[in-house]
Amino acid sequence: MNYGAVAYEGSICRPPMEEGAFILPVQDGCSHNQCLFCHFYKDVPFRLIPLDEVEAELQRIRALNARGPRRIFLGGGDALALPAERLSAVLEMIRRYFPRCREITADATVTDIRRKSDAQLLRLRDAGLGCLYVGLECGLDTVLTRLHKDHNNTEAIMQLERLNALSMPHGAHVMTGAGGRGSAAENGLATARLLNRVRPCAIINVSMFIDNRAPLFAEVEKGAFHPASALEHLREERALLTNLELPLRYDSFQVFSELRLIGNLPRDRERLLRRLDMAIDDCAARPQPLRIMPRCADQRQVDMAFSTDEEDLRFCAF
Ligand code: SF4
Repeated sequence: MNYGAVAYEGSICRPPMEEGAFILPVQDGCSHNQCLFCHFYKDVPFRLIPLDEVEAELQRIRALNARGPRRIFLGGGDALALPAERLSAVLEMIRRYFPRCREITADATVTDIRRKSDAQLLRLRDAGLGCLYVGLECGLDTVLTRLHKDHNNTEAIMQLERLNALSMPHGAHVMTGAGGRGSAAENGLATARLLNRVRPCAIINVSMFIDNRAPLFAEVEKGAFHPASALEHLREERALLTNLELPLRYDSFQVFSELRLIGNLPRDRERLLRRLDMAIDDCAARPQPLRIMPRCADQRQVDMAFSTDEEDLRFCAF
C-alpha cells in the first residue's frame, strides 16, 4: 500500500502515548518477527524503506504544512533495527526539514539495543532520537522463551541499564496474561520487579489476545497453550500495579474487560487500583466464557493502542 510517498507493507503498532505523533515509516516488518503471540508482520518481509522515499515523505508533509509535526514516531516493528548510519541519516533529514520537531521516538527490541555500541547510541541521542519503546512483555524467562522473544530478562536489564547510563529514556511494552492460565500472581510480581530494576519512563500494557493469524493461535487450538481468563488478566495487572515503585506514565488496556487505565504513578495508583478492584469484582461475579480474541466492539479500543488502517497511519498532528 502507499503511505504518502512511501510504499509501505503491513501495519504499524504505535504506543498510545504517541497517538499525536506523525508516523514516518522507515522499515517494513520487524527484524525479529518470531514472537508467537504477534500477528502484525508475519506476512511482511523485513525491508528498510529507501532513504529517498523517506525524504519524499518529509517533502510531502512539508508541502502540507511548513512547520511540520512536533512529534514523529519512526514506523515499523522496531525502527532501532536500522543500521546506526542509516538511522542517523533519517534523524538528520527530519531535523533539516522540521527543525521545530521536539521529539522523535521509535519501537525497539532488546537485541536492537545490544547491537548498537554506546558511541552509536549517543550519536543517535544527540541527533534527536528520544524515547525508545522496548517490547519486554513480562518478567519471567520461562515465558519469554516459550513465546519466542529474542531476549531474556538478564539481557533486558543489561541493555536498559546501558540506556539509563546514556540518559536515553525508554518505555516498556508489557502484556498481562503472557504466561497463560495459572501464572497471574507470579508474572505480575516478576514483571513489576523487572520494571523497578530497569526504570522505564512509561509502561504500556495491552493484555494478551491471540489473533488467529498469530502462531500461538494454533497452539491454543492444539491445547499446547492455555490462555489466561479475563479475571486472571485483571488480577495480574493488580499484582503489577501494586508492586511498581517508580514514577512513570501508566497506560493499560484490558482487551477482554474493556478496561482502560491511564495515570501517573505513584500519584494515581490508588485511583487505578480502585477502578481495577471494581472490574475484578464485576468479572468474578459474572464469569465470562474464555475468549482469546477481542470481540468486534473491543477491536475499536485495541486500535487506540495499535494503528492498523491506512487512514490512521496518515494521522498527523502539527
Ligand atoms: S512483538 Fe515486536 S519483536 Fe515480536 S514479532 Fe511482533 S513486532 Fe517483532
